[in-house]
Amino acid sequence: MIDHTEDLGKMYDEVLEDISALDMTTQRHRRCCICNDVKIDGYMKNVTMDSEKLLLILGCLFRKEISMIDAREFLTRPAKTYVCHFHFTETIDTLYERLQITCPYDIYKCSADILQKTFESVCELRVHTTFTQYIKILLDFLERYDHMRSPTRQDLLDYYTTLVEPSCDDPRVQAVEEEVAGMLHETEGLGNNYNEALECSSSLDMPKQRHQDIHNSRRCCICNDVKIDGYMKNVTMDNEKLLLILGCVFRNEISMIDAHGFLTRPAKTYVCVLHFKETIDTLYEKLQITCPYDIYKCSADILQKTFESMCELRVHTTFTQYIKILLDFLERYDHMRAP
Ligand SMILES: [Zn+2]
Ligand SMILES: [Zn+2]
Repeated sequence: MIDHTEDLGKMYDEVLEDISALDMTTQRHRRCCICNDVKIDGYMKNVTMDSEKLLLILGCLFRKEISMIDAREFLTRPAKTYVCHFHFTETIDTLYERLQITCPYDIYKCSADILQKTFESVCELRVHTTFTQYIKILLDFLERYDHMRSPTRQDLLDYYTTLVEPSCDDPRVQAVEEEVAGMLHETEGLGNNYNEALECSSSLDMPKQRHQDIHNSRRCCICNDVKIDGYMKNVTMDNEKLLLILGCVFRNEISMIDAHGFLTRPAKTYVCVLHFKETIDTLYEKLQITCPYDIYKCSADILQKTFESMCELRVHTTFTQYIKILLDFLERYDHMRAP
C-alpha cells in the first residue's frame, strides 16, 4: 500500500525548501547525485520521494548514462538527495519517448505492451513494485513535473516575434490543447460529483418522501424495480455506468447486446444503491482482492483478463484508463460494502 499522507508531507517540505532556495542571500552549493555537478540551491531540487528517485534513475538507465548496479546503489542512498532541475526535464523527455506520448494525459492512450516493456526495467531496479503501482507513480510524476518542459520566457519571446501562426502539428500547441481538454474533462467529472451529492442530500429528506412517495419513485435502469429516491442513485458519469454494467456482465445477468444498449442511454440513469455494492463485490471477486488498495497488488494478467470484457463493452477505452476508472470507483464506493 502506498502511503499518500507521507508523500504529501514530503511534497510540502520540498516546496518549503524550493521557496527558501529562491532567496539569493542564503544560497548554498550542493552536489548533484546524478551528474556530480556542484550548483547553487536555485538550480537544484531535494528529492525525498522514493518513487521520484526511481523514475529519475530509470531515465538515466534508458539514456544509458548509468549501469544497473550503479542505479540500484543510487536507490539505497539516504533521504537527502539533491539533483539538478534539468534531470527532471530529461526524465520526462525520456519517459515520453519510451512511452511514445507527448503529455501526461496521453498515458491513458498507452498500450499495455509499451507500459509492460518499461515496467520490466522498473522491476530490475526495484523488485517489489507492482504494475499498478508503477502506473500510479508514472502518472503522479508526469503530472507534477510536466510544466518543467514548458517553453521558457525566451522561447515565448522568440515565438511571438516571428508573428507566424503556430502549426497545429507543433507538439507544444498540441500538448497545451490536450492539457486543456483533459482539464475540461476533469472539471466535468467534478461537476457531476457535485450534482450527484446535491441530489443525494435532497433525497435524504425523509419526511418529504412520505408525502410524495409516488412522485419521487424511480425505475432502476438495471433491474427495472421501482423504488423511492432514498434507495436510488442518479449515475451521470459514463465510467460508473460502464463498471456497473460490467458487473452485470460478469454475473451473467445481462447479454452483451443489452449492456451496449444501457451504455447508450441518456444522462439521467437511476440505479438501486444495491447495485453499487454488488458491482464492488463482483470486481473484488474477479480481481481476487478485498479492498481498493489491494489493486496495487493485482497482477497484470488478472487486470488484462477483466480488461478484455471491458473492451467488448466500450472499444476505445485504454488499459491505463481502465485502471484509473477502477481505482476511482473502488475508492468512492467501497464504504457501501460496510455491514
Ligand atoms: Zn545533475
Ligand atoms: Zn435495481
